[in-house]
This record gives sequence, C-alpha cells and structure tokens, in this order.
Amino acid sequence: VKPFVVDVADLVHRPGLRRRESLSGPTSAMTVAATHVEEGSILTIEATLEPVSAGVLATGSTEVSWKSECRRCEIAVNGVTNVTFREQFEPRTDPRVDDELDTYPMNQERVDLELVAREAILLDLPLAPLCREDCLGLCPTCGSDLNEGACECVSTPADPRWAALDALRLDE
Ligand SMILES: [Zn+2]
Ligand SMILES: [Zn+2]
Repeated sequence: VKPFVVDVADLVHRPGLRRRESLSGPTSAMTVAATHVEEGSILTIEATLEPVSAGVLATGSTEVSWKSECRRCEIAVNGVTNVTFREQFEPRTDPRVDDELDTYPMNQERVDLELVAREAILLDLPLAPLCREDCLGLCPTCGSDLNEGACECVSTPADPRWAALDALRLDE
C-alpha cells in the first residue's frame, strides 16, 4: 500500500484545474543526528496539486512526530515537525539520475508525495534539541542532572585552602 502516491492524470490533461489532497499513513524510519522518526510513524500531508508546463506542482505542508534526547541533560525529548514544501514533479525524459535534478519524478501520471514530504522533514528535524530553553544540563564532574537540584560538587563549600585555587580557575 502506497498511501501517498496520487494519480494526477486528470490534472495533466486539464490545465487550470487544481486539486487538494489530505493524506496520512505510516512512513519508514528516518534519523538525523540524535533525532529519529520511528518506523511506522504517521505522516500527514496536505497538498494542493496543479499542472505546470512540464508536470505537476505540489504545494503544501507535512507533519510527523520525532524522538530525540536533550543535548544538555540527555533526557528523552519528543516533538512534532511541521514544514511546508513547494516542489515540482516531471516525467523523466532526462537521462540524468534523480539526484542531479531539482524536480521529482512523475511516473505514469502518478506522483509520490511521500518523497517530497520526507525530504522536507529531513531538512527540518532538530539536530540537537533541548528539553527546555533553560535546561541546566548535567554536572560535568559527577554527571547528576542539575535540573533536579544542585549536586554535591556545587553545593559543598570549598575547603578554604582551595579557595585561592578555585578563584584562579573561575578567572579562566
Ligand atoms: Zn535538558
Ligand atoms: Zn556534580
């Protein structure tokens, strides 16, 4: 089942026509740095399709949820990416491969909107998200989560004999 493959034969033969598509279905896994979209995640696509000289123009937005970890405290973080796209599909008469062209392939008057959606999402997934803007992260010394309170390293008053050295370190 390819829920995102749309027949555009009607558009191709009737210039001036537009069609709106609301699609959703499972997509395969994607990973960018620490962020990933799980296998089978539900991808939604809202698109307007219209004929252009050499094919079909798809304009719209797509959404999928992702999972990652906070770059400071490593806690699990999840979110939703919603990104817009505007891409053209064309029948392949050019012998070059898809990667060298700036349009998507249109085969037998069908277009696969999942190709456009996934590429837009890959570019939009956060590489290194935060659990919250003011996340305090982990103590570099003992590794405890400073969001849950100061650790021993921070709260223990320094031995007076070390105070001079600490002051030097803070100046660095
Ligand atoms: Zn965090
Ligand atoms: Zn600590």
